Amino acid sequence: MDLLHRAGSNMMRTCPHCGELFQIVEKHAFTCPARPGILDLVRQLLERPEQPGIARSAREYRAAAMEHNTEVGHGILAPSQRALEKRFKSWHGVCKWAGLEYSRLPAHPDKAPEEAAIAEVGAALEADAELRAAWEVRGLPVLKVYTPEHDKRFYYVIR
Ligand SMILES: [Zn+2]
Repeated sequence: MDLLHRAGSNMMRTCPHCGELFQIVEKHAFTCPARPGILDLVRQLLERPEQPGIARSAREYRAAAMEHNTEVGHGILAPSQRALEKRFKSWHGVCKWAGLEYSRLPAHPDKAPEEAAIAEVGAALEADAELRAAWEVRGLPVLKVYTPEHDKRFYYVIR
């Protein structure tokens, strides 16, 4: 395999795991998602212990990965949340790759805050619609608009 490529003035090198080009391939290859063992490690850090098959949020993963990477004798380092999201386009994509289901709902669903938020938005939209309707029908109809000479103001003739 051709491991060296020239792209402009930068020396690009191929990752032996995923085959993509990088300027600092060692840094990437260390936690490349295609590196053997990485998928198992990410899945282990990503899965909710209390809910098998369900993925943690990106923030929870970040904390778990950081904890794993600071442990002594950890073996393989876990890829950062950002590196994974970059590779798989979104957190949803990362979870899919790890074979886990991603749900935005918290581990122990408490729907009250969500329902309150939905109700609040609904009320705001209703108030907004009422305000707009009020603006359309308020006041008296304008019969004539005129601007006298040497006067830049508009004058409205109402009924
Ligand atoms: Zn790679």
